[in-house]
Amino acid sequence: MIPIPDRISRLLELAHNLWWSWHPEARDLFQTLDNPLWKSSGHNPVKQLQEMSPERLRQAAADPVFLRLHDSVLTAFDADTKGDDTWFHKTNSGLLRGPIAYFSMEFAIHNSLPIYAGGLGILAGDICKEASDLGLPLVGVGFMYPQGYFHQRITPDGWQKELYEQLNFDETPIEQLFLPGRNKLMVEVPVGDKRLYVSAWRVRIGRVNLYLLDTNVEENSLQDRLLSSRLYVADQETRLQQEIVLGVAGVKVLRALGINPEVWHANEGHPGFMMLERIREKLETGTPMAEAIGSVQANTVFTTHTPVPAGHDIFPAELVEKYFAASWQQLGIDRDQFLQLGRRDGKLDPTFNMTILALKMSNRRNGVSRLHGMVSRRMWHVLWPEASEESVPISHITNGIHLCTWVAPEMATLFKKYLGPEWLQKQDEEEIWAHVNEMPDEELWEVRNLLKHKLMAVIFNRFQRGWANGEMTADQVIATGALFHPDYLTLGFVRRFVEYKRPGLIFRDIQRLKRIITDPSRPVQIVFAGKSHPADTPAKHLLHQVYQLAGSRDFHGRIIFIEDYDMHMSRYLVSGVDVWLNTPRRLWEASGTSGMKASINGVPHLSVRDGWWHEGYKNTNGWAIGGDLEDRALEDEADSRALYRLLEEEIVPCFYDRDRAGVPHRWVQIVKEAIRTVAPLFCTRRMMKEYTNDMYMPAAASPRESIHVD
Ligand SMILES: *Cc1c(COP(=O)(O)O)cnc(C)c1O
Repeated sequence: MIPIPDRISRLLELAHNLWWSWHPEARDLFQTLDNPLWKSSGHNPVKQLQEMSPERLRQAAADPVFLRLHDSVLTAFDADTKGDDTWFHKTNSGLLRGPIAYFSMEFAIHNSLPIYAGGLGILAGDICKEASDLGLPLVGVGFMYPQGYFHQRITPDGWQKELYEQLNFDETPIEQLFLPGRNKLMVEVPVGDKRLYVSAWRVRIGRVNLYLLDTNVEENSLQDRLLSSRLYVADQETRLQQEIVLGVAGVKVLRALGINPEVWHANEGHPGFMMLERIREKLETGTPMAEAIGSVQANTVFTTHTPVPAGHDIFPAELVEKYFAASWQQLGIDRDQFLQLGRRDGKLDPTFNMTILALKMSNRRNGVSRLHGMVSRRMWHVLWPEASEESVPISHITNGIHLCTWVAPEMATLFKKYLGPEWLQKQDEEEIWAHVNEMPDEELWEVRNLLKHKLMAVIFNRFQRGWANGEMTADQVIATGALFHPDYLTLGFVRRFVEYKRPGLIFRDIQRLKRIITDPSRPVQIVFAGKSHPADTPAKHLLHQVYQLAGSRDFHGRIIFIEDYDMHMSRYLVSGVDVWLNTPRRLWEASGTSGMKASINGVPHLSVRDGWWHEGYKNTNGWAIGGDLEDRALEDEADSRALYRLLEEEIVPCFYDRDRAGVPHRWVQIVKEAIRTVAPLFCTRRMMKEYTNDMYMPAAASPRESIHVD
């Protein structure tokens, strides 16, 4: 580590708090410090600072312009991470004795910490950032995967290849946790008949700490050291072991740190063993089973994300028994009593269902959109057979996005100008967004075009590099955007490749699509991006088909595929295309959030009326496809026809309807409506206030959990 001059030594602290990632001034600070290194480090200031020359650091420490920016960023940083001028302090001060512990298998904070796969992680990351902004005391618990999720490459013939890169922890914004006395913090977890040792890392996200568990310690066998290396392994037993680590070691690490949460929140069923561990703690101190369960339920919150039965995390009962039976028997709980926690009452399923466990062990449960709440109540009616479907105790809190993270800086500048400098503080107030209508069409349209050009520059840069390095064939260069044109109407289909999202829907009638795309006076382009799960063979075939069509001459190079969709690429895509396309099979998408990101950047959503769009669509702010068909074949046919019709009759004509200066006023009106109606409702500000008021505070007010510390 090179010495940093005293005057600017807090840069190190700033680099190690991902607060900088959602504050444009702080990003500017690192960029100003050394632009080439900022870029080559992949916007990772921890790495950047390690590589900087002492000479340049000395210069910066003596540069009044740099110092002015530096001081203003640090003042904001201190106010945001330490001050008590926060929403939570004003509304709920003194009402919580311990933090909210938020458990999730993945967290997406920034690309320099690639420990996420998709939407579930994005939500978890956005929740941490918003908790920090609101001053809500929250700690996260997750996994430190040294290889994270894979990087995607597409072979010349269109097959996905998965590349795993080993993270260099020294260049990652994480800190190893130590106990007083400089011993590594380590907890011990019984996993079946062996003991596993788990250490932990801390990530700072503003005022929120995220603790990441790690099994890669010398005390473990080689196999166990690799346990936490990758996200979403296919092997069931490894996955069960990972979930034991997340749930059981997660609780133990918090206890070892002296953190005693008042509310425990599970993001999806994966962290369900956290609930069992807390019951076990109580049994160990002699609390009877029923009472132990009751007190854990009282302050546990569970968010379910999966609207389809096949998506739930289910293990063979004998596997769960193998890992838990012995220790629970010692506590006087017999096998059936134990396995019943993950099963429907009175059923002798041969399985243990993590969603059922979490539903049973929490008193507050929610789906992630209004429609998904309804679907969840229907799906889990079996657990509350005596209740009517509407009164099944699962509510909903619709997802949102962290505005600061997802709004393009150019768009934020416009918001500041027309909504006022307080726009971020008031982001969840619908009234301030009415000012969007005061933006001159020309000015907004210019920003839209600028963002589109920025996306094109990123796309061009990729294939230019690929071609120059000899990594791409000419066909690949075409299939990744060489013939793209920044003025053409551009649709984005950017999401995880999985069958229910129907990436192939738009290709159902190839001739009709060809006519739309290749219309010489009103051309259309489509950019595809997304990973498929390494074990999902049908999804890989879908990706292959799309890639083949992208390369086909028939579409004039106007359908392309961008590899390795991640948070970084996502920021360019959600702000850089013209229309955000989403075609899930209806009732299969719990919420979706990418359409929210697009809408707030002035990219209207064209989607099946599913997930959040069921409540977000307002006739004037985008386009909706689809009714209530149950028959799959009919649904595909009807939805694809609706899609073509919207494109042919509404979207394409509207986009190309220009005044003399080339401004599409009707289109810009839809853009404004998308921003105005989506931003205040589908932001994490609104969402986290709901979690706080409707879930966390009532859970905290429930009979106190008796805290046991060993
Ligand atoms: C927002 C986002 C998602 C979630 O998008 P949906 O398709 O709406 O579920 C997934 N991956 C990345 C990288 C994202 O930025």
